[in-house]
Amino acid sequence: MKLILLGPPGAGKGTQAQLLVDRYRIPQLSTGDMLRAAAAAGTDVGVRAKTIMDRGDLVPDDIMVEIIAERIGQPDTGNGFILDGFPRTLAQAEALDRLLEQRGVTIDAIVEIAVDEDVLMERIETRARETGGSRGDDKSTAKRLENYREKTAPVSDHYRSKGTLKRVDGMGTVDEVAASIDAHLRPLVEA
Ligand code: ADP
Repeated sequence: MKLILLGPPGAGKGTQAQLLVDRYRIPQLSTGDMLRAAAAAGTDVGVRAKTIMDRGDLVPDDIMVEIIAERIGQPDTGNGFILDGFPRTLAQAEALDRLLEQRGVTIDAIVEIAVDEDVLMERIETRARETGGSRGDDKSTAKRLENYREKTAPVSDHYRSKGTLKRVDGMGTVDEVAASIDAHLRPLVEA
């Protein structure tokens, strides 16, 4: 099962991705986690990325595409993967299309978790308070949402126009959202 999970920050992507990891025994490829690991390890890319992430900005496309190209080639993705946090711009989506085509890989489903903006803002702020530290800055939160609206929302349009987007309502409980996602994926497994 090869999946792309889309949705704004605070939509519950990470939580749902974890449930999918357990259900389908496939790795979650979270670009946010990869960048944070690189930052913690103090690599050049990681150090540059940290400054950008702390501002709530997006790491440049070429870096992200390189990271993902490398990650998708690793042996643990043989049974599939869940892309979480990538693609986040139209350029990334187009680069991913090319990459997958070159490698003869097809994505089984692209799932978008939809939530309304007020609820999002609240969820992000609560999480920022709970986790504390650099993510808890209002300015970077606002920046993150603005980047989502301007740069990431077009990614959904890209897949919608290709007819491959499955949209689920992210406003329910964790279980309800998981059930909606499952309803889209089950037929693919049974097929
Ligand atoms: P959140 O869950 O808050 O949306 P993530 O953990 O997915 O955040 O990502 C954290 C940060 O890492 C993002 O705010 C962004 O700066 C950077 N990042 C992650 N994925 C990408 C990407 N595909 N393109 C550019 N920047 C990215």
